[in-house]
Amino acid sequence: MSKSNSLNPNLNKLQKKASFKAVEYYVQGIREGNRIVLSQAITIIESQHTAHQALAQEIIEACLPHSKTAKRIAITGAPGVGKSTFIETIGLHAIQAGSKLAVLAIDPSSQISGGSILGDKTRMQSLSSHAKAFVRPSSAGETLGGVAKATRASIILCEAAGYDTILIETVGVGQSEIAVHAMVDCFVLLLMPGGGDELQGIKRGIVEMADIVCINKADSHQKVQAETAQKDFRNALHLFPPKLNNWTPQVLLCAGLTGLGIPAVWATINQFFEVVYQNGWLEKNRKDQARHWLKEHLEYRLKAWFYQHPEVQRAFGTLEQQVIAGKISSFHAAEQLLKKALKDAV
Ligand code: GDP
Repeated sequence: MSKSNSLNPNLNKLQKKASFKAVEYYVQGIREGNRIVLSQAITIIESQHTAHQALAQEIIEACLPHSKTAKRIAITGAPGVGKSTFIETIGLHAIQAGSKLAVLAIDPSSQISGGSILGDKTRMQSLSSHAKAFVRPSSAGETLGGVAKATRASIILCEAAGYDTILIETVGVGQSEIAVHAMVDCFVLLLMPGGGDELQGIKRGIVEMADIVCINKADSHQKVQAETAQKDFRNALHLFPPKLNNWTPQVLLCAGLTGLGIPAVWATINQFFEVVYQNGWLEKNRKDQARHWLKEHLEYRLKAWFYQHPEVQRAFGTLEQQVIAGKISSFHAAEQLLKKALKDAV
């Protein structure tokens, strides 16, 4: 915030004022492609305040009819694999090829450790300052459910703002990949050069989700190891069952730092979209995802409602103690709590 202030002393004031604006202000700003308004709207969406949630919902609903269907692409891989360098390079390449690009990030580390893997370094500087790019630092939130919800809503807003390509960056720790996989069309996994035997600590399930595997840092002295990894991963991917989208996963070599292989990665991403558009999977998958998020959101809201219920909060500790002491069963305690929560709901 202090950086923004030194650039524009009125920004803070504007943002403060803006938080009280009506839905039309945000929708109009977003549709005009105003990145400050888009950012403000995403902040409202991420906010935990009940007052903001109603406004957030209105903004999302109003943006939905204007949200063009962008290419939604996940970029994932372990910390240090070179994701932000890769995104900066491929992002600039995509812009040169005519795209308008938004980058969103899911960073589950902020929930686990209180710190952030993605947020604490200067990232994607050229891309951030490019007129045709919108780079949003990691989505904040207390639970993955909350973060995922905010990211999904942010996709809608970015699409309404005219971004035709949306990259969603995530750190390879498991759960967040599954959430991201359910909100994108194309899943790109970045790996290091070196043997693929141990799958580099990346869970098999995540490799299985990949449409495109990029062996990154394949520049200079690591070229041989990168080629070995490419061969290993090609073999490994052959063993997986065919994908529902009828796309054969590709394993490519690249280096975000030097730009090596980046045009080929971008071309392959575009090829992927042509294939899945033609064979009808893209549309079908979007519908499946909409269904998935309907259920996911219901579960998320029900859970939040339940645990925040005053009667539940009052009784929880005592019942928990009784369960631990073996005085009552966990089923009985759960039923008691449900009864308390549902008492005034039915
Ligand atoms: P992230 O944590 O996955 O976002 O990774 P970064 O993009 O921050 O990169 C981690 C480190 O790897 C940095 O020191 C980069 O300079 C370096 N790096 C990134 N891409 C490449 C590459 O293509 N080749 C080489 N040799 N180093 C790279």
